[in-house]
Amino acid sequence: MLSITFDHAGLSAFLTFENKGFIIVLDNHLNLFKSSDLMKNKSKLPVVLKITLPFVLTIILVIITIYGFVMPKIDNILFEQKKEKVKDLCKNTLQLAEQYYERYMSGELSKEESQKRLVERVRGMRYGDELKDYFWILDMDYIMIMHPYLPEMEGSSMKDYKDPNGNTPFFAMVELVRQNKSGYVEYLWQLRDIEEDIQKKISYVELFEPWHWIIGTGVYYSDIELETSEMTHDINVTLILIVLLIGLISLYIILKEIKNAEYRQQSVLEKEKFILKLKTINDKLNQAQKESEEANRSKDIFLATITHDLRTPLNGIVGFSELLEGCSEEERRKRFSEYTGYIQKSGRYLLQMINDILDFSKVEAKKMELVKSEFSINAVLEEVITSLSFFSQEKGIPIAFEADEKLLIRADEMRLKKVFYNLLSNAIKYTKGHQPIDVHLSRSEEGIFVSFRDRGIGISPEDQEKIFKPFVQLNQIKTEGTGLGLAIAKEIVDLHNGAISLKSEYGKGSEFTVRLPGSILTDKVTSAKKTERESFDLAGKKVFVVEDDEISRKLIKLFLEKNKMHPVCASTGEELLMLLASDLPDIILMDIRLPDIDGITLRHKVMETVAKKLPIIALTAFSSEEKRSELLQSGFVAVCHKPIDSEDLLGKIFMSLTSGTL
Ligand code: ADP
Repeated sequence: MLSITFDHAGLSAFLTFENKGFIIVLDNHLNLFKSSDLMKNKSKLPVVLKITLPFVLTIILVIITIYGFVMPKIDNILFEQKKEKVKDLCKNTLQLAEQYYERYMSGELSKEESQKRLVERVRGMRYGDELKDYFWILDMDYIMIMHPYLPEMEGSSMKDYKDPNGNTPFFAMVELVRQNKSGYVEYLWQLRDIEEDIQKKISYVELFEPWHWIIGTGVYYSDIELETSEMTHDINVTLILIVLLIGLISLYIILKEIKNAEYRQQSVLEKEKFILKLKTINDKLNQAQKESEEANRSKDIFLATITHDLRTPLNGIVGFSELLEGCSEEERRKRFSEYTGYIQKSGRYLLQMINDILDFSKVEAKKMELVKSEFSINAVLEEVITSLSFFSQEKGIPIAFEADEKLLIRADEMRLKKVFYNLLSNAIKYTKGHQPIDVHLSRSEEGIFVSFRDRGIGISPEDQEKIFKPFVQLNQIKTEGTGLGLAIAKEIVDLHNGAISLKSEYGKGSEFTVRLPGSILTDKVTSAKKTERESFDLAGKKVFVVEDDEISRKLIKLFLEKNKMHPVCASTGEELLMLLASDLPDIILMDIRLPDIDGITLRHKVMETVAKKLPIIALTAFSSEEKRSELLQSGFVAVCHKPIDSEDLLGKIFMSLTSGTL
């Protein structure tokens, strides 16, 4: 199932092939990274500012509103209230005066008596928080009738009285009531009964018409200020509490916001990491896809080549065999060695190709295991050079071998031989002719070095990396080959913890160098080296051969007879056991896949029958290393792979008969 997910910002998209377990990021990474970079750059400061700024602004606004508008307004209201209050109080006193006047008018009291009583009543009247606020009485001629705190002024004219500011408040009062009957007058006056404390005061005065008296009472500004300052104090405390509360809430929000921002940043980072991971996976997938496409293409080319390359030698084998069969007796005698030479060459080439493919399949399956023994690397190189000298001589290419010293190593002889064989045969293949090839063996602290230097066609720098990959052929010149040789060689050398390096100049030649670790060096040879061909003396040896395939049986028989041995052949296990019942050979060559019995069981039966240790060599078409080890472990003295290499078989028979094991 395919699912597509867009991230919330719409900056990237994911394609998920659930069935196949693929996750593909559909690009836009850059945009996404940009956005997250922005988020990353967001420091904690803006978060703090974002929250504290409105808070501070609100507080400033509240302070301006309270102290700039509300408080003055409250002051004003309080002032007006006070003014109203003194006015009301004054009016009450006027009513009292009215009552006394009425008592006079009713004849109950004389005028003097009623005025006297009124004056005394008013003198004793107090109000205010400390009950110290008072009333006074003045007449229209500026004479102070009554003043509770300044009785010495009573009876005196207040017309010219000046306050510290130079104002004449009593004159102003008389003038005011003369015009308006009542009103307010501002002036400086001692604070109640405290003579020395002069304060600003506002008094309400009103005319009591019947007696032309002015009754007044006032309020001090300091009293109003005291009241407002108490109120301001309460407001200040409330304000501070509110600020503290908002501050705490803001702090909580800031901390929470910082935490959230960190969490968001963390998530963004994780998201980025995840996307990066996906990108890497995607890149790897793309790379793998590319590689697999490349490999597929190479395999297709390989299949096409291999079909062609298989047909060519097969044509040679079939064609020359038919030619031999169809030609006259005389012609056959004349052409025999030439035609069989072609047949042999084609056969060997086919064998080489199949071996390469099998080896490569092992490399691919990571199943190649090294079979180590101790041997002389000099001898192996000489052997490889000798086995390829036919081809080099054909092209007129001299091969010079130079070894700084003789080195004994412990490694997989067969496989290293293959590596050297591949490198040297390539050097010959890709040299057009007559240019010499140098093979050099040396040793240093870094290890053992074997180099193959040719003066052939060379390899361009861009191709130098490619050629170690399987199925790669540069097709510069048409040669026989599978494109697997270098891939196998590299794998074998890698398995030995070594490396192959290449120095090459296009058109001028190449130098492949195999480096093997110094740790494989040894100074003793425990396994016997293969003896030279000429020294095999096997004449008269009796060999039982059990092989179901008629051609193979005949081939081995002829070959053994050619080497002066006495072969006796059987085609089944049962036949072999019957032979053994009447006679005993020096050695048995046993095909391990017989129609009636498998090789390992037959070997056991043979041992039981002859009741003595008889060397048996296994013949097998299986080329796997596991099979070889299995056969050796089950008691076979040696294993020969089909098609049988005559040299190899002779060597193994000889070794089995001389030392008992290989
Ligand atoms: P092949 O069987 O085609 O020789 P290899 O894996 O041995 O396969 O080599 C791969 C390719 O590398 C060859 O096809 C050839 O183009 C190039 N090559 C290998 N050795 C040499 C060399 N000594 N000189 C020039 N080209 C070489």
